[in-house]
Amino acid sequence: MTTTRSLPRRRILQAAAAGVLGTLAGCAALRPGPAAARVVVVGGGYGGATAAKYLRLLSGQRIDVTLVEPEAAFVSCPLSNLVLGGSKAMTDITVPYDALERTHGVRRVRDRVERIDADQRIAVLASGARLPYDKLVLSPGVELMWDGVAGLRAANEQGRILQAWKAGAETTTLRRQLEAMRDGGTFAIAIPEAPYRCPPGPYERACQVAHYLKTAKPRSKVLVLDANPDVTSKGALFKRVWSEAYPGIVEYRPQHKATAVDAAAGVVRFEVQDDVRADVLNVLPPMRAGAVAVQSGLANANGRWCQVNFLNFESTAMRHVHVLGDAIQIAPAMPKSGHMANGHAKVAAAAIVAELSGWDIDPAPMLTNTCYSFVDDQRAIHVASVHEYVAAERTFKTVVGSGGLSTAPNELEGRYGLNWAQTIWADALG
Ligand SMILES: Cc1cc2nc3c(=O)[nH]c(=O)nc-3n(C[C@H](O)[C@H](O)[C@H](O)COP(=O)(O)OP(=O)(O)OC[C@H]3O[C@@H](n4cnc5c(N)ncnc54)[C@H](O)[C@@H]3O)c2cc1C
Repeated sequence: MTTTRSLPRRRILQAAAAGVLGTLAGCAALRPGPAAARVVVVGGGYGGATAAKYLRLLSGQRIDVTLVEPEAAFVSCPLSNLVLGGSKAMTDITVPYDALERTHGVRRVRDRVERIDADQRIAVLASGARLPYDKLVLSPGVELMWDGVAGLRAANEQGRILQAWKAGAETTTLRRQLEAMRDGGTFAIAIPEAPYRCPPGPYERACQVAHYLKTAKPRSKVLVLDANPDVTSKGALFKRVWSEAYPGIVEYRPQHKATAVDAAAGVVRFEVQDDVRADVLNVLPPMRAGAVAVQSGLANANGRWCQVNFLNFESTAMRHVHVLGDAIQIAPAMPKSGHMANGHAKVAAAAIVAELSGWDIDPAPMLTNTCYSFVDDQRAIHVASVHEYVAAERTFKTVVGSGGLSTAPNELEGRYGLNWAQTIWADALG
């Protein structure tokens, strides 16, 4: 019988990262170990929370892991569109950090990292505290580029035009704006040019708002104003849903790149097309890596995204700093998704444990992605893919013939979608 002890170390880390091993007791028994090594994880979202947990698991609890995150609890962007649609509440998408601390021994600091001192290997917090590290894992998500749309920052600060592209207080307020909108009113969502966080997210949001309006205010409209030439993800499926389930409600307009807003008039202006007026505006500006990454000089791809070595997710700009999730310059066909961030985190955690232990790192990591989009309160569609590291090109590429796409929206996939969320929250935070 094969035991974990008889497996080569690399295979153990691969298996554990893939979730194959239920227990890592075998891994903990291996020597030499990463005694007293310190890893600081910045950001407790999909990438950071997963990395913090798996660094503890894969090192047999011998790495000292500190998670720096300003928020009191994890709030999921996936399923947050259902809060706008009215079928879920904020409590349904909020998960506490307790298990990371109690079960896995992650030390949590409720603060923000302001600066990374790469020479001293110290993370400097907003409070002034300084956290020394051997390795730093950075998963700060995205920052909205307010300057990309004139007037948008002020409109946001006044609470008039919200984004809700990080789930939280804005999700609740945007829902209230929809509830307050008159029957016969217009909701307009403006989508920036790709790449942005969650390619299908805006189209799912259009469906969720349309579902709510169809039920509660049937004379209303949803305008999808897209800077891209066409729907960027699950295009044929979304268009079919709009024509079959929401005729006369959803209208899709490509090639609409927003350049300015007039919040008082409820108007959004475009590079080429005519102005659009709406009762509730949801204007998403271009995005880049979270501010701490940009300010630390890690955004070395067009000043927006962070280039990494895909074998261990180490920044190509700063040694011992590993960047995950939405903040990275993606490989071909790699979406900016929570599922991907969770996968990045496992590859990086396995590599960091190996490096701190003097072991070889996995030369051929694999990633998967599955993304469910809800088209109403019950039915969902999905897209899935498998990505392998191609050593000759030093990047991930989709495995030919892998993955798939729904043929039509259905309730079974709606149940799978809800289960996906519970499972990934348990994997990252449980
Ligand atoms: C509406 C919507 C729907 C989506 N649906 C899906 C879906 O169905 N499936 C899917 O896979 N993905 C989905 N996504 C995408 C998914 O949410 C992101 O890809 C994912 O959150 C990326 O993980 P991350 O770790 O990079 O960032 P996040 O999860 O955003 O985590 C970043 C964390 O870093 C913290 N932080 C930022 N700066 C600092 C700092 N300086 N110091 C300390 N902490 C800091 C933040 O507070 C935050 O908690 C959706 C996104 C949206 C907006």
